[in-house]
Amino acid sequence: MNIVLMGLPGAGKGTQADKIVEKYEIPHISTGDMFRAAIKNQTALGLEAKSFMDQGALVPDEVTIGIVRERLSQADCEKGFLLDGFPRTVPQAEALDATLADMGKSVEHVINIQVEQEELIKRLTGRRICKECGTAYHLVFNPPQEEGKCDKDGGELYQRADDNPETVSNRLEVNMKQTQPLLDFYGDKGVLTNIDGQQHITKVFADIDALLTNHRK
Ligand SMILES: [Zn+2]
Repeated sequence: MNIVLMGLPGAGKGTQADKIVEKYEIPHISTGDMFRAAIKNQTALGLEAKSFMDQGALVPDEVTIGIVRERLSQADCEKGFLLDGFPRTVPQAEALDATLADMGKSVEHVINIQVEQEELIKRLTGRRICKECGTAYHLVFNPPQEEGKCDKDGGELYQRADDNPETVSNRLEVNMKQTQPLLDFYGDKGVLTNIDGQQHITKVFADIDALLTNHRK
């Protein structure tokens, strides 16, 4: 069960990723975790990636795909994997296909959690963080007991500068433009499934679960 999970910021990807890996017992492979592990283990590719990151430069695709390949070759990926945050571009998706083909595998499901822009803006601009302990709240979905104050320590809650409506909508626009070619690529291959992410969290997962359970039969 080889899955790529997609969705814009605020779509609830993290929550659904947790549920998928728990139920299907496959590893959740996020780009950030993969890089951190490769650097910590001082693999050749990890060190190479680090040299680019230390300069504030983008890690080239061939290094990234090498790290992905190392990770997907590990024993825990035999039953499948959930890729999150990779691929980001069509060339990366093509490189992933080639790598998987070498291993006799392929991407079987691309799950795209769809949420309308207006709803994403609502979700993303409602975040508030405690100045003292960093706990995250949400004005709508997870409000503090007392307005503007942290439940744990009474610390003042603030909105991160990049959570203001203008920055959020710009970020979403950029993200959508980058993502569309990738959705088209997987759509053409017939592996893409759009899931309605505006439903209740349990219903979103029920839809994903139905797709993956069908696959198993
Ligand atoms: Zn706090």
